[in-house]
Amino acid sequence: METVNLSAAGDDEVEFDEELCIICQEHTQDKLASTQHGCDQIRSANDVRQDAVFARLKNLSPSALFSYHVTNACYKGYTNSTKIAKLKKQKKKIKAACARSVIW
Ligand SMILES: [Zn+2]
Repeated sequence: METVNLSAAGDDEVEFDEELCIICQEHTQDKLASTQHGCDQIRSANDVRQDAVFARLKNLSPSALFSYHVTNACYKGYTNSTKIAKLKKQKKKIKAACARSVIW
């Protein structure tokens, strides 16, 4: 008998558990939080990072609340303003380099 794997169809579908922390997707001892402010913070950090979490968030409605761990490994690390500022700078540098090579 042939089985059809529906989850394999469409690469854009990102499987993740909304009940788990959106950042690590793991069951840990840490409590999950889900506040409007926290979600906003993660979303804005996400715009800069564009990582696996970004792909997960794409599947949620822009106003949806999601769960996350308020730990250094998850929320605090993810939204760390120093790290975000650094990433933004790096991106700007890459953009500037691209623009230069286009002019050449
Ligand atoms: Zn987590």
